[in-house]
Amino acid sequence: MSLPRTLGELRQSSFSEHILLARHVKDELRENLMVRLQTGECIFPGIIGYEDTVVPQIVNAVLSRHNFILLGLRGQAKSRILRALTSLLDPLMPYVAGCEIHDNPYSPICRRCRDLLTKCGDAIAIAYLTPEERYIEKLATPDVTIADLIGDIDPIKAARGGHELSNELTVHYGLLPRANRGIFAVNELPDLAGKIQVGLFNIMQEGDVQIKGYPIRLPLDVALVFSANPEDYTARGKIISPLKDRMGSEIRTHYPATVEEGIAITAQEAWTQRNGYKLHIPKYVQEVIERIAFAAREDKKIDKRSGVSQRLPISCIENVISNAERRAIRHQEGLVVPRVGDVYAALPAITGKLELEYEGEMKGADHVSRELIRSAIAKAYDGFFKGTDMQQIVQWFDLGGEIQLADGASAKDSLQALRGIQGLMEKTVKLGVGPKDTPEAQVSAAEFILEGLHAHKRIGRNEERVFTAGEKQPKHVEKPFERDELPYRPRRPFN
Ligand SMILES: [Zn+2]
Repeated sequence: MSLPRTLGELRQSSFSEHILLARHVKDELRENLMVRLQTGECIFPGIIGYEDTVVPQIVNAVLSRHNFILLGLRGQAKSRILRALTSLLDPLMPYVAGCEIHDNPYSPICRRCRDLLTKCGDAIAIAYLTPEERYIEKLATPDVTIADLIGDIDPIKAARGGHELSNELTVHYGLLPRANRGIFAVNELPDLAGKIQVGLFNIMQEGDVQIKGYPIRLPLDVALVFSANPEDYTARGKIISPLKDRMGSEIRTHYPATVEEGIAITAQEAWTQRNGYKLHIPKYVQEVIERIAFAAREDKKIDKRSGVSQRLPISCIENVISNAERRAIRHQEGLVVPRVGDVYAALPAITGKLELEYEGEMKGADHVSRELIRSAIAKAYDGFFKGTDMQQIVQWFDLGGEIQLADGASAKDSLQALRGIQGLMEKTVKLGVGPKDTPEAQVSAAEFILEGLHAHKRIGRNEERVFTAGEKQPKHVEKPFERDELPYRPRRPFN
């Protein structure tokens, strides 16, 4: 099917004047969403964990033809959701060919197209936009100007065309007009200077704006969507109230509610399907990684206001796999099986994603991260082994047993050493691993048990990854505060 190429052809097509004139962007989003609701199709494929919370609210906002804002901490898929709105746009949208702001051929708003329409009428050429081309996104920063966002008077354009500076033809359009008849997303809205917010509001409200003092009329057709950190957004004075008032819906996003959901998101987003080596990621390794993020979100040493992004477990698992890959390549093993030891090797993927509070800063990101990993291991271990009798294994270490499990050691060598620990290998059955499984899988499972015992302080382990007996220190008694002071000496009374 060939598409209409002129306005005359367009009139005779399914993009008739009657249809296209009445179909604003928000109508388009609404109508396509209604179809999707009727067919029961997934509304935002790939958005996990929001099915019962965020998605219904977005659906309502779109049905209400609202401009809306997503409030949430970093790494809560806000930009992703906003981008997914393009899937609710028509596959193709006709506009006046060559128009910078993608004018509707039946009612152009820019001067150029209006002049063109008078001159050429139905012979005007038509071009088309895909949904992706109709989405414009801007990360707000304090240095964004009216020129960036709305436009500027271009003196060179004026001189060349012999126009007055105030002539509309001399305007160099900014991002918002270029999003005309599409979706315009502003991320981190509160970082936008007050003056720019006013400009944005005027466009939303009145369809006109002043550029360098010249009033320019721009009745744009745009679906405006925003994102912000909730604390910044609600802080007094960060958002001008008329703009806030124009926000139809305010929707809160959140981190995954359960570890299972977190694992599903991480599995979807992380780069795991790599070329070459066969990969098996044990369930408990996934869980440990996910629980690091969960533990970090609870930890008081970490800044609550900035949150802990889902990108932490995603980068972490990628690094964990790489460390396991490195080991497999070096020892020419056919199978890549990550171990808990690989999680410690993935610290570079963790430390940079934690915004530390004062107490955390004092301890250092490295130390805080190790603590988080350890508590994640303890929790994951409890899920599999709570109540399991591990006395025999602990005893082996208490009797002087030692084993080194370097993360670079081959599975064969490590397995041989692990088999020497009485009572250990049979416990891996609880992880779904038995003596018939590959050495790579068996070592990973057994190491998880030892790491779990270490996380619960039942056995010891040093920096070189040598597992030993736990310190059987006498219960540490908090010294009373005064003991640190000098012994009390009664002052000799005067006189
Ligand atoms: Zn135009």
